Amino acid sequence: IKWTEGVGWHEARLTPYAPLSLDPANMTLHYAQEIFEGLKAYRRPDGSVATFRPDANAERFQRSARRLAMPELPTELFIEACDALIRQDRAWVPAHGGEASLYLRPFMIATEVGLGVRPANEYLFIVIASPAAAYFPGGVKPVSVWLSENYVRAVPGGMGFAKTGGNYAASLLAQAEAAAQGCDQVVWLDALEHRWVEEMGGMNLYFVYGDRIVTPELTGSLLAGITRDSLLKLAKDLGYESAEGRISTEDWRRDTENGTLTEVFACGTAAAITPVGLVKSADGEWTQGGGEPGEVTMKLREALLDIQRGTAADTHGWMHQLG
Ligand code: PMP
Repeated sequence: IKWTEGVGWHEARLTPYAPLSLDPANMTLHYAQEIFEGLKAYRRPDGSVATFRPDANAERFQRSARRLAMPELPTELFIEACDALIRQDRAWVPAHGGEASLYLRPFMIATEVGLGVRPANEYLFIVIASPAAAYFPGGVKPVSVWLSENYVRAVPGGMGFAKTGGNYAASLLAQAEAAAQGCDQVVWLDALEHRWVEEMGGMNLYFVYGDRIVTPELTGSLLAGITRDSLLKLAKDLGYESAEGRISTEDWRRDTENGTLTEVFACGTAAAITPVGLVKSADGEWTQGGGEPGEVTMKLREALLDIQRGTAADTHGWMHQLG
């Protein structure tokens, strides 16, 4: 779908997958007005297909657009575009039962040609799709994380809450540092004190204190994950307490060592829920939950996947069924 100043959204088209042709002076290539989303379509027991909270993705896309001075795509158009592509590619939505899905990647770029630094006056919204295999084909395995003190992903007043490519470019070196330390993922800390836990590379974090789960509050510099928000609600359905709060790296280590912090997990569209088994930082390392997936983590994981696969009641009205 195109957007042009004075005209608005127009020319919605479904076309075969093909390379884009971009002018070398395309403004996105120079000034990075680019935003994206990620969501999945799941096969249900009756063979129909549904996406998980596409309205929440549409709203986050609008917040990202505002921050990058781009036009907002109305929620109905966002969902209609995703649905049209899924209908076209519905054979690619994997069979019901496992954790495989069809991953959708809606995104928007500026298409105006010019080298002046200002918001572009033409944009293109595109959705592409790709089948996604189960994240843990051999069973859920805890990840190891590296607490990044050398780099920050986002600063107050910056774009951390927006889903824009620049945030991911900023994370690549820290992710490489984590890998060099033998860790699977980087954990971001706040920019000012390098102390408050924000999120993981591509997932939000939860801290399990017995039957209470806590996730870092939305400071503006971390992504408001849709899985994160869903778990705040789903945990209550399962009889846990859930809250947003502030967790420092000292809290993390101390509470693990004194046994009050029983499990830590990460959550996001890609892997649903992933336990954290080992934490490393410049000051040392510690294991989490004995390096095994915790009970609360796995209960929440199954409850979420059951809703997504259509085998549990969708009491929050999260599933958008295509029929
Ligand atoms: N944080 C970051 C930086 C991410 O890229 C993602 C994945 N979109 C998340 C958190 C989790 O968000 P969601 O639950 O909406 O997938």
